[in-house]
Amino acid sequence: MVNRGCSFEMPDGLLCQAPAMRGKTVCYWHDPERAEDVADARRLGGLHRRKAASVATIYDFAGLRSIEGAQRLLETAALETFALENSVPRNRTLISAAAGAAKLIEVGDHEERIRALEALGQARIDSAKDTATFPDTGS
Ligand SMILES: [Zn+2]
Repeated sequence: MVNRGCSFEMPDGLLCQAPAMRGKTVCYWHDPERAEDVADARRLGGLHRRKAASVATIYDFAGLRSIEGAQRLLETAALETFALENSVPRNRTLISAAAGAAKLIEVGDHEERIRALEALGQARIDSAKDTATFPDTGS
């Protein structure tokens, strides 16, 4: 039997088309028999998202999409680890954080240098265009 996909009509009028459950014409999320489970799952998903946002605020965590964000995470983890009782795993974690921090500093430094070189290259291109627009007529 070919799975035709979920036949639930979405608010935009298109069919859901997620894989239908075995022997059914709808997917897990659109099965009326599972409406209660789905509602629980959605409620839990909302709770997890709110909890994640609260924890992010408490720890001043802005995500891992920038070097600054990663550095902030490392600093927080290092501080929390410092507060633990001295042990070999604690010291390994701190050494690992130091190595990670050094790498982030190196990458940040390279990023700055590349930006400076790109700005220099663009300035030279702009300068060459100006020369082409107003050619030097003196010879
Ligand atoms: Zn569906």
